[in-house]
Amino acid sequence: MASTSPPDKSESQSMSTKPSPDLLWALYATISQHGPTDLTVRTSDGGEFHVHKKVVCERSLFFNNALNGPFKEAASGVIDMPNDPPTAIIALLQFTYKREYDCHVVEGQPDSEPWRFHLDAYIAGSIYNIVSLKHYAKRRFTSTMFGLGPSGYSVIPKAISILYDSTPDTDRILRDWLEDFSFLQLGKLMTDPEFLVVMATFESFRDAIARATNAERARVERLDDHVADVQWFVKNRVFHGPPERVYYRCPNCRYKMTLNGPSQLKTVYCVGCKQVSNDYCWDWGRYDPYTGESASTTDIETV
Ligand SMILES: [Zn+2]
Repeated sequence: MASTSPPDKSESQSMSTKPSPDLLWALYATISQHGPTDLTVRTSDGGEFHVHKKVVCERSLFFNNALNGPFKEAASGVIDMPNDPPTAIIALLQFTYKREYDCHVVEGQPDSEPWRFHLDAYIAGSIYNIVSLKHYAKRRFTSTMFGLGPSGYSVIPKAISILYDSTPDTDRILRDWLEDFSFLQLGKLMTDPEFLVVMATFESFRDAIARATNAERARVERLDDHVADVQWFVKNRVFHGPPERVYYRCPNCRYKMTLNGPSQLKTVYCVGCKQVSNDYCWDWGRYDPYTGESASTTDIETV
């Protein structure tokens, strides 16, 4: 492949996964609708896929550069892709035609599972720089994870390990999701020895969890302030007359809510994003009981 070859991937990327006949058939069915082919893609297991240059070049800069530059692939019309799981290449090829791919796995074959299929497809999207494939594979991956229920937790360390070994730190789409999910489920995941190994191995993942933990600590401190604020307000309510209804719009998530008597509060808790903001950060106004509308914020003096 000369200089158009992507970098070799880690050993952790299994090459043993064989495509299922259904998967091959889905790809053939897609390609055959587009007439005579002019490009052959070879996978690591010896598979050859006859596709259309125009279609794959349109979707992928990698194919475009390889087939329209001074490389041997441009002359030979053959592209070897020996470093990727064949299932991922099939998913990639089908995606270039349909903007979606079929997921078929081989029952009983190690590493042939839907979550792994989508993860490999995501990694192929990252290596061959097809952002839309990454977004699509991430959606398929996350919905598969949610479908797994509690057994999905055991998949998380494996998925992190494969993803972080195979993609750069700057590739954020699936990393962001895995980091957020891991942080939210940290209590459960920390009981899994494999997850602890992942924490010890991948510094950028560990840093992300540490950052999220610090942000959460700061949020809880703000929440403590807010509780003290509310306690003060409840204790002194009698001195402030009847509460007025005021609406707030959160500066963080734009969630809008109506509160009773908050004008003495210095902090407001947003039920939308669970953050606490100072009242002067909020876009707020009085609630009009006759129209149900809120007055313009410019009419209101802030406390
Ligand atoms: Zn909010």
